[in-house]
Amino acid sequence: MIDLDKQQIEIARNNELATNNAERLSHKIIIDGKLVSAISEETIPVINPSNGGLIGQAPRCRSKDVDRAVKSSEKAFLYWKKIPARERGKIMMQAANRLEKRRREIETLLSLDTGNAIRTQAIPETSSAIELFYMFAGLAGELKGENFPPNMEHVLHYTTRDPIGIVGAIIPWNAPLFLMVAKIAPAIVAGNTVVLKTAEQAPLCVLLFSEILQEELPPGVLNVISGYGEEAGEPLVVHPKVRKITFTGSYEVGKEIMIKAASKLCPVTLELGGKNPNIILSDADLDIAIPGVIEGMRYTRQGQACTAGSRIYIHDKIYDKVIDGVVKRLSELRMGDALDELSDIGAIISEKQLKRTLHYMDLAVQSPSVKVLHGGHRPADPMLRNGFFYEPTLIEGLPIESPVCQEEIFGPVACAFSFNDFDTMMQSANNTPFGLSATLWTENLSRALQFVEEIDAGFVQVNQCVAPRANVSYGGLKMSGLGKEYAIDSMINHFTQSKTILINRGKSAHNHNC
Ligand code: ADP
Repeated sequence: MIDLDKQQIEIARNNELATNNAERLSHKIIIDGKLVSAISEETIPVINPSNGGLIGQAPRCRSKDVDRAVKSSEKAFLYWKKIPARERGKIMMQAANRLEKRRREIETLLSLDTGNAIRTQAIPETSSAIELFYMFAGLAGELKGENFPPNMEHVLHYTTRDPIGIVGAIIPWNAPLFLMVAKIAPAIVAGNTVVLKTAEQAPLCVLLFSEILQEELPPGVLNVISGYGEEAGEPLVVHPKVRKITFTGSYEVGKEIMIKAASKLCPVTLELGGKNPNIILSDADLDIAIPGVIEGMRYTRQGQACTAGSRIYIHDKIYDKVIDGVVKRLSELRMGDALDELSDIGAIISEKQLKRTLHYMDLAVQSPSVKVLHGGHRPADPMLRNGFFYEPTLIEGLPIESPVCQEEIFGPVACAFSFNDFDTMMQSANNTPFGLSATLWTENLSRALQFVEEIDAGFVQVNQCVAPRANVSYGGLKMSGLGKEYAIDSMINHFTQSKTILINRGKSAHNHNC
């Protein structure tokens, strides 16, 4: 009883902290370093996924607010790009120190906004986001071009790495802080200024994070708007002054963004979806592979991860043992209010996403061969009735061609398959238009190397399946995206442009026309 009381007090405390910030940030965007009202008076309700309650309103920005944000970024760019890179890095370090000091506020609002469980998700995501911010701040000194040996007499030949200008950054809701930092930190340290559009489902935690950054960044270096994709995202993509787009989200939207950006020859970085294999060979160490299935599927983030290993291939010699182990562990996971420190699993982001999971489960159970090994329902607990909860679900017996095994569900549903021939399994694993991540569990080095060579994925792991993190260059192949993020190459390749300079210090000109 005492423990229960303690637990309720803890949830109430977390709730109060998060709710106070949500109220304060409601109806606001950030322009010129300040929290302000948008020009657009319309708003989008922000819902707590754990109980369906209203926690705030996000301005429903349209072109006028986009123009205003771009103007602010344009003005700030003139100043920011001239600050020496190491000085920019120092300012960002100081901003990261401020994030560190207010991390409890960030964690609780992240949890309230997204429905992601505070202990298993919001705390680690906040840590990873701050760490990534520190990392890019520290890379300021690496912004440098190349010096070429003279290939014309008396000619000094070198290249520079310069900021591009105004960057449009568009993020989703599933890991909003980490994904935001992956875009804004390399862009800003490289001397660009950013207009960031938050996801309509989880705008408030991003606003808090950005508000803290404003305490150190000069006004206009980071402007933050909210709104729907077509109304606020698209005007940002097509804005003539925006010279770089960086996006994380669905394939469908990513493709549209690329088409729209093409008309102004604007470079894009795209982090899109996946339908990723998690493969367990007969010689795998099951003490790590079984928990690895749960971790890989990101069940404690309700499967809402691009890297979720949702197609689980298990060698038939160990199939039953692995399934029993996974099911046992799934049954031990506790689902509950995201702000409850005891919850392992929180809620799906929205009613719309919950319906998406329900739709795929309807499709799955129509198949005569399907067997639901775990989950398959909304939880019976009346305390969770108003939230968007769904049990962690594992199914078997579906044909690989089923849309459930081919399309990204972005919910807590994974499919298991048994196999006994490595080559046939690899063909199946690669038989998807996506190519984001892949994992193999084996003690056989030769097989591991064969897998690494043959798998069509941009993020490949053997005997682990951790989430992407700072200093791990991450991105997809095929329809999973364009470009890599989270490491130094993203700062240099995606947020700088290069000039080639030839300076003739001699008397004779080199008259070779191009
Ligand atoms: P999800 O289905 O996970 O919400 P989306 O790809 O639909 O993923 O959305 C990811 C982000 O892209 C969100 O911030 C959303 O508002 C934005 N977005 C959606 N449609 C467009 C669009 N046509 N142009 C620009 N941004 C968009």
